[in-house]
Amino acid sequence: MLETLAHAIRHPLQVLRLYARLVRSDRLRGSCIFCGVERTLFRLGPSNRDGFYCRYCHSTLRQRHLAKVLIERLGDGCGYSCFRDFVGQMQGLVTYVAQSTGPLVSALARLEGARFSEFFHDVPLGGSWNGIRCEDLQALSFADASLDLVISQDVLEHVREPKRAFGEIWRTLKPGGLHIFSVPCDLAKKTVTRVAVVDGVEVFHHPPVYHEDTIRGGLVYTDFGSDLLDNLVAQGLPTEIHWFRENELQKFSYIFISTKSNLV
Ligand SMILES: [Zn+2]
Repeated sequence: MLETLAHAIRHPLQVLRLYARLVRSDRLRGSCIFCGVERTLFRLGPSNRDGFYCRYCHSTLRQRHLAKVLIERLGDGCGYSCFRDFVGQMQGLVTYVAQSTGPLVSALARLEGARFSEFFHDVPLGGSWNGIRCEDLQALSFADASLDLVISQDVLEHVREPKRAFGEIWRTLKPGGLHIFSVPCDLAKKTVTRVAVVDGVEVFHHPPVYHEDTIRGGLVYTDFGSDLLDNLVAQGLPTEIHWFRENELQKFSYIFISTKSNLV
């Protein structure tokens, strides 16, 4: 609450605009795993998975869903209603999160040895800028088989060569390690490469599409489809899909869970 108040004082116009949008937004009641209580969730915008926003912790549906998957997969079976209470169960897991902000990062920051990163064009990989580690998913600086858990949220569609990125995730995970991730994916279609990279040059096969991303610019290189799962099996990352299971929001959010196999 104090953080919210301090933010409102520093950015009054931003907060006023947000509240004006909230007043006009569709809403429903649902649990916020980050706040640990029932909240009114605001749809805000056309996307379901990027909507149903908690105004206290700013989490979206897919962010809360990913946190619930972590509890389900890594927990002791006790069931936790608050992700912050659960994080202690993850101590000892070598965890890498391919982002540096957001409610999940805030909660995981107390995990000893957790690494968080962004990609910056002019910073050496493994180095840092303003205290933020620089990593490229296509060329990770981590040693082979050194990570228990990799988490990425809606970043792989922005990677120039996603096959290389999945290969790097496979390389850096320990055998049996997990990559838990979200990515926009239309399971009724096949994967479409919107922007290919040929001899280091970007070739646009479709008009450019951008997602909001203040750090990378947000160009979408790949629209993922149903063949993502077969491609991941071929790369030694057999993958299952976890669908959201709560109130009217069922089927709006999906999280991918890959387990590193030793077969590649
Ligand atoms: Zn919340």
